[in-house]
Amino acid sequence: MPFVLIIVLCLILGIGIGYLIFTYRSRKRSNLSRPSSPESVYRSIVESSQEGIWRMDADARITFANQHMAELLGYQVSDLIGRVIFDFFDPAQTHIAEYRFGLFRDGVGQRFDLLVRHKDGSSRWVAISGTPQFDPNHRYIGIVGIMLDIAERKSTEESLQESEERYRIIAESTFDALILHEDGYVIQANRAAATLFGYEREELVGRNAKALLLAPDSLPVADQMLATGFEGIYEATFRRKDGTTFPAEVQARNVTYRGRRVRVATYHDISERKKAADALRDLNAELERRVHERTFELQRQQMELNAILDSMGEGVFYSEGLFIRLANRALLDITGYAQEELVGKRGSVLIDRNIAIGDAQPEWVAYMREYARSNPNKLWRGEAVLMRKDGSLFNAALTFTALTDENNELIGSVIVIRDITEEKRLAAQKAAFVANASHELRTPLTNIITRLYLLRHQPDNLNQHLDVLERVAARMQNLVADLLDVSRFERGVISVRRRDVSLQELIEEVIQTQQPEAQQKNISLTSRLPSEVVQVYADPDRLVQVIVNLTVNAINYTPAGGRVSIELATEDDRMAVLRVWDTGVGIAPDNVAHVFEPFFRVNEATIPGTGLGLSISKAIVELHGGSLAVESTPQVGSTFTVRLPLSETVRV
Ligand code: ADP
Repeated sequence: MPFVLIIVLCLILGIGIGYLIFTYRSRKRSNLSRPSSPESVYRSIVESSQEGIWRMDADARITFANQHMAELLGYQVSDLIGRVIFDFFDPAQTHIAEYRFGLFRDGVGQRFDLLVRHKDGSSRWVAISGTPQFDPNHRYIGIVGIMLDIAERKSTEESLQESEERYRIIAESTFDALILHEDGYVIQANRAAATLFGYEREELVGRNAKALLLAPDSLPVADQMLATGFEGIYEATFRRKDGTTFPAEVQARNVTYRGRRVRVATYHDISERKKAADALRDLNAELERRVHERTFELQRQQMELNAILDSMGEGVFYSEGLFIRLANRALLDITGYAQEELVGKRGSVLIDRNIAIGDAQPEWVAYMREYARSNPNKLWRGEAVLMRKDGSLFNAALTFTALTDENNELIGSVIVIRDITEEKRLAAQKAAFVANASHELRTPLTNIITRLYLLRHQPDNLNQHLDVLERVAARMQNLVADLLDVSRFERGVISVRRRDVSLQELIEEVIQTQQPEAQQKNISLTSRLPSEVVQVYADPDRLVQVIVNLTVNAINYTPAGGRVSIELATEDDRMAVLRVWDTGVGIAPDNVAHVFEPFFRVNEATIPGTGLGLSISKAIVELHGGSLAVESTPQVGSTFTVRLPLSETVRV
C-alpha cells in the first residue's frame, strides 16, 4: 500500500478515534446513553480492516488493538491490552525498535519494517506505520499505529535480490559484452562491455551509449532499431575510447526492468569474421575474374577455331566416341545436313554401310578402333564413298586422326573430308582428253604418212594428195590452236583486240563459211537478223570463233533434214542476244550442266571433236562481259544463247 494512503488512513483513524474519545467523554458528561452511529461505523471499519490497528500510550503500553492485530501476533485482543509493544518484537531488533519508537516520541510519523515475534515463536516481517499523538499541552501521549504482514513481500524482495545477484553474476562472468540501457542511456554494463569499448564501467553507466560508442555512420541504423524496438541481430560500427572503430554484431532485446522498458544488448566484435569474409569475397572475385578471363580466352580460341574451320574448304568433323561433336560449314555444304542434324549424331550417318573403307571390313567403327590401336601415328589417309543427306554418294578423300586415351583406346577422332567427285571426274576427263587428243593427232598423222607414201608412189595424183594433206594439216592446226587456247584461258593469258563490230556482219560471215558443210549434211542453215545494226565492242575474231563453234556443233549434232538457225535481237536496249538453235539430238539433263566444262563430250565415239569448243566459247563471252547458256530437250533440239553488252552500254 502506498505510503501516502497509509498516512491518510492513519489520519482518518486518528480523527475517528479522537471523535470516539470525544463522544465518550461528552456522553459521560451528559450521562446520556444513546447509540452513536459514527462510532459504530468506525468500529466496524477498524474491525473489518485487513491491517492490524493499534494504539499505545507514552509508555508503549497497548491501549487498543483490533482483531487483525491480535491475529498478526497470534494472541487474543484481550491478551494484548496493557502489554508493552516491545514484548512482541523480535529480540534481535529491539535496538532498531527503540530507535524508531524514540522518533515517534520526537513527533516523527514514519513507516518501517520490523520483525515481530509470533506467539508460536516464529519471527515475521511486518510493516509498521505510526502517527505520534500529543495532548493539547504538546505532551506525547502515544501513537496510533498500523501493522501490516509483509512476510510475502519480504520473501519476494529477497528472491528478487537473489535473482538480481544471480543475473549480476551471470552478466559479469559472461564473455559477451552486455549493456542494459534505457533510450540509449547506460543503466548497466558488464566487464566484457567495458573491455570491448575500452572504458571503465563507471565511465559507461549513465552515459548515452549512442553518442559515446557508435561510429557516426551507424547512428541512423541504431536510431531505427531503437525507434522500432527491434529485437534480433543487426550489424553496426562502434568506436572505442581510443577512437578506433570496429564492426560488431548487436543482439538486442526489450525487457522490463524495475517497471521500465529498457533494452539489453550484447555486442560481438566481428572484425575477424569480416576480414575473413572480405578475404573470401576478394578470393571469390579473383577466382571469378580468372574464370572469366579463361572463359573469354577459351571462347576466343573457340571462335578462332570455328573461324578457321568454317573458312576451310574441306569438311571437318570431330567425334567423341561414336558421336559427332563439331562439324564445320564445308562439311555441311558437302553433305547437305544442317549443323543440328549432324552434331550429336553418329559419325556413321555419313557412311554407306554397304561400302567398305579401304580394305577393311564394312564395320568401320571396329576397323577404326583397331586401326587406332595398331597404328603408331594415328593417322589414316584414304578414299571412301560417303553418303549425303539425300542418300546420294560421293567420293571423298579422308584424313582420319585417331584420338586415344592412355590405354591406346579410341576415344574420338578428327576427320577431314574432301569431296573429290569433281577432281575424279576432271581427272577422268583429262585422261579421256589425252587419249582423245592423241587419237585425234594420230589419225591425221597416219593420214599424212599414208599420203606421203602415196605421193612417192603415185606422183600423178599429186593435187588430190596435196588437198588431203592440206585438210589434215588444217585440222591438226585447229586442234593445236584449241589446246593452246585452253591452256591460255587456264593460265589467264588471253589477249583481246576490241573494236565496235556489227554482229549481223559476223553472223553472215559464219553462215557463208558454214553453208557448204550444212548443205552437205542436208541441213538448212538460216539466220534471222534485225535490220538495225546491233553493235558490240568486242574482238571480232574471238566472236567469230564462238559463233562458228556453236554453229558447227549445231550442224554436227543435228541429223540430216534438220534445221539450224542463228537469230539476233536486243534486250532492254542493253544487251545483244544471239541464239543458235537446232532441231538436233539435244543434251540429256544430266549433261547440260557439264557441256561447258573443258574436255566434256557426250558422244565421244560418233562425232569427232575435242570437247574444248564450248568451254573456250564460254570463256571468250565472259571475257567480253557477257554470258553463254544452253537450253536443250533430248531429241528435240538445243538452243545456245550468247548475251553481250551493247557497245553504247560498254562505253558509257
Ligand atoms: P566438241 O563439240 O568438240 O565435242 P564442245 O565443247 O563444243 O566440244 O561440246 C561439248 C559437248 O557438248 C559435245 O561433245 C556434245 O556432246 C555437246 N554438244 C555441244 N553442242 C551441242 C548441240 N548443239 N546439240 C547436242 N549436243 C551438243
